[in-house]
Amino acid sequence: MSKEKIRQARSGKTLSDNLICQFPGLLSRSLAACLLVALTLPPDCLAQSGRQLAVKQARPAAAAGGVYPEYRSRMGNVRWIKEQMPLKVYISHGAAIDGFIDEEVGAPIANTSNVAGWPKLVASILSTPGQFEALPIAQGFDEQHYNAALQGIGMWKQFEKEGLFTFQLTTEPDADIFVFWVNHFVDKTGMALFAGDIRGYTSKDIFPYRAILAGGKADFKPVVIMLRTTDTNGVAMPFQKMRAAAAHEFGHALGIDGHSRNPIDLMSLYYGNGTISANDASTIRYLYHSPPDLIP
Ligand SMILES: [Zn+2]
Repeated sequence: MSKEKIRQARSGKTLSDNLICQFPGLLSRSLAACLLVALTLPPDCLAQSGRQLAVKQARPAAAAGGVYPEYRSRMGNVRWIKEQMPLKVYISHGAAIDGFIDEEVGAPIANTSNVAGWPKLVASILSTPGQFEALPIAQGFDEQHYNAALQGIGMWKQFEKEGLFTFQLTTEPDADIFVFWVNHFVDKTGMALFAGDIRGYTSKDIFPYRAILAGGKADFKPVVIMLRTTDTNGVAMPFQKMRAAAAHEFGHALGIDGHSRNPIDLMSLYYGNGTISANDASTIRYLYHSPPDLIP
């Protein structure tokens, strides 16, 4: 599959029902505290596949030392493929997407109860002329936050020389991964979530790799990272914490699905010491040396 084909597929149609139903093991939903992946699938297909699902949820075989098994989603390995690289990453200078209100719930569409809906929202913003350019700046954002995100995401560059993946920043809004900002997260009731130390969320739609290889069309959407400009006290997120948050979320964007249970790891809920640990490194290597089951 060529990069061009993937790009075409990004504006293509959803996978046909036939193709999806050939891969029932891939049909379920995985939710971690700050990662949510969603498949664009018909519900009847989901119902049919319930029984086979349990069989396909194999543990990773013989993981190397340091690899934490939580990297793998319940649906299998999620990662980008060579044809999608270099991944294009757009880090906005403070743009916020929480001004779009879901009239039914009376809260921002970009609320934390609807993380799975964020890629669709961003796809819609991008396809509406002028909307992306007109996004407001998140309250509390300053350029140091941008620099922190740049550094945090840049930590993953070290794996490029090993051939795991490549990515580059872009200033054009046609990226694979977008970074947006928010003053603080709200849930679907509009309740402000000030107190928690969740500094970011990553949302991505994922698609069965084999089905796409077989010619299936997928409605690819951008992966969306949202970072919070304030900390638990409501003051500007400190540089080091923001850098760790951006690095952690980018780990999710690259495909690490869940959280390491070891608090020293960047990909734990505690952000480790804010840098990629030996376990994180082993894990991303293991993931990118394993065949993908799903691709963003
Ligand atoms: Zn996380």
